[in-house]
Amino acid sequence: IEAAAILKKGGLVAFPTETVYGLGADALNEEAARKIYAAKGRPSDNPLIAHIAKKEDIEPLVREIPEAGKKLMDAFWPVPPTAYELTRRFWPGPLTLIFPKSGRVPEGTTGGLDTVAVRMPSDPVARRLIELAGTPVAAPSANTSGRPSPTTAEHVRQDMDGRIEMIVDGGPVGIGVESTIVDVTGEIPMVLRPGAITMEMLKKCVGAVEIDPAILGP
Ligand code: AMP
Ligand code: MG
Repeated sequence: IEAAAILKKGGLVAFPTETVYGLGADALNEEAARKIYAAKGRPSDNPLIAHIAKKEDIEPLVREIPEAGKKLMDAFWPVPPTAYELTRRFWPGPLTLIFPKSGRVPEGTTGGLDTVAVRMPSDPVARRLIELAGTPVAAPSANTSGRPSPTTAEHVRQDMDGRIEMIVDGGPVGIGVESTIVDVTGEIPMVLRPGAITMEMLKKCVGAVEIDPAILGP
């Protein structure tokens, strides 16, 4: 509750998600987003992901939800969940989707882009905190740029101590693998970052899927 109050007034709070510990700030508050970039030493053109607590919370953030986005938000895991006992869907889960952004989302959050990345985490602590904050929460990994993504509150403390207002300790997190990022604004969904949700799982759901040439390398 204290953590949610800090987020509401534009402060920084580290909290666990099912992937890694995140460094949270109000995603609709440009000043708060700036604090994230400063605390991490992250270049401000590297866009942040807005984390939401319920599916409906996406509506004010986007201009439209393309068909492929709807399918992926409703998709079920094709295999029994292992590390993700809490959900059998991609949403909530480690899948980030890129949508055309609405006017509500400041460019200070999206690195100046006209699109916004949205994810609904499955971790109950993360979801409860976002719900109490009453706003989408930008939450890159809670480490200074160049350091490994933290999987315990202690790692966060060692790296970020003094630069953030509070750390919510939810114990060690499950996987340490980042969310898969899929851009659904184009004709064919495109994977921008590989992660916990595999290419096969995406294809099973939406058919054709492309991979961003930038991640394939030369
Ligand atoms: P993270 O560092 O885990 O918070 O993930 C942020 C990453 O998500 C960025 O480095 C981008 O690769 C990606 N991302 C976030 N928003 C967008 C967007 N609007 N368009 C494309 N990629 C995005
Ligand atoms: Mg990171």
